[in-house]
Amino acid sequence: MPRPIHATVHTSALSHNLARTRAAAPDARVWAVVKANAYGHGIERVFDALRSADGFALLDLAEAQRLRALDWRGPILLLEGCFEARDLELCSRLGLWHAIHCNEQIDMLAAHKTQLPHRVFLKMNTGMNRLGFTPERFRAAWTRLNALPQVDEISLMQHFPDADGPRGISAQLKAFEAVTHDLPGERSLSNSAATMRYGAILAGRSDWIRPGIVLYGSSPDFPEHSAADWDLQPTMTLASKIIGLQHLVAGDTVGYGSSFSADGPLRLGVVACGYADGYPRHCGTGTPVLVNGVRTRLVGRVSMDMLTVDLTPVPEAGFGSEVTLWGQSSGGAVLSIDEVAQAAGTVGYELMCAVAPRVPMTVE
Ligand SMILES: *Cc1c(COP(=O)(O)O)cnc(C)c1O
Repeated sequence: MPRPIHATVHTSALSHNLARTRAAAPDARVWAVVKANAYGHGIERVFDALRSADGFALLDLAEAQRLRALDWRGPILLLEGCFEARDLELCSRLGLWHAIHCNEQIDMLAAHKTQLPHRVFLKMNTGMNRLGFTPERFRAAWTRLNALPQVDEISLMQHFPDADGPRGISAQLKAFEAVTHDLPGERSLSNSAATMRYGAILAGRSDWIRPGIVLYGSSPDFPEHSAADWDLQPTMTLASKIIGLQHLVAGDTVGYGSSFSADGPLRLGVVACGYADGYPRHCGTGTPVLVNGVRTRLVGRVSMDMLTVDLTPVPEAGFGSEVTLWGQSSGGAVLSIDEVAQAAGTVGYELMCAVAPRVPMTVE
């Protein structure tokens, strides 16, 4: 038998979260962001549940090919555009729309031979300082693109650095609109956090939203709001079983480094899940875990293939009992991936993207 660890992708939760996202921006079209193999869920596993989106956004050309292989004929947007000239041939062949964020990409497009002109998304750098033309250089880039026979329609995009925090979106929105107010073309401004938090302000200003994390049931601004606050459902469950039991007495320690020491009798469950499965080693004593759907805590250090949990709140648990590391228990109890991520000093995005290939993953 394989080890009992297993991941499940929940189709109905993906559909629910897509509907929630649409409700937050009812007039906008939706790019379902499926980069990083659909945030670790698997493009093929999420495709059916998300196919009512208006398009798919990602950045790996091989992933775009996989979407076309699923017979998706609708829009696909390459969020980082092309990395080298021959990528443009694939864009022409597969009908991919692509971001243009630097002059080198305009040079490549100007040298590209194509029958059908491309739809491009010209990106402004409104302060994130990763990709995009600064507001001062944006119009010159637009003018250059607009003169190319290789270009069909130019859409305008930017990315908010602080939509999830106290700085908000107003400085970026102002910078973007000051430069683009008289330019034609569709706009794409918001990620998940901007869509959920600033729907009213952005209504009518963004033709295409670009939600990622909300589709996967994680809160874009945890802990200010939980996934439940946003009415999002977990789309991934990481589950395993108890494969061993220990009975500690006061002073006994657990695991590498003996970092946890019992202050009284303690029933301990050993779980078949470790950092080689993608469970963060940074999760320390106190990280929430469900056993038989009951909330308890991790104790001691996470090792490569195992971790240990306190069974005090679940006296009936024993060998083979169900353990939910994040997601939904078979009885319907929920443990948010955001809480586990917080215990590891990271975000839900990183955990869902990092589930290891050795963990079997199925769709339900
Ligand atoms: C990843 C990404 C998104 C989606 O971000 P979420 O925070 O997951 O909603 C949107 N736009 C761009 C350009 C991205 O790279």
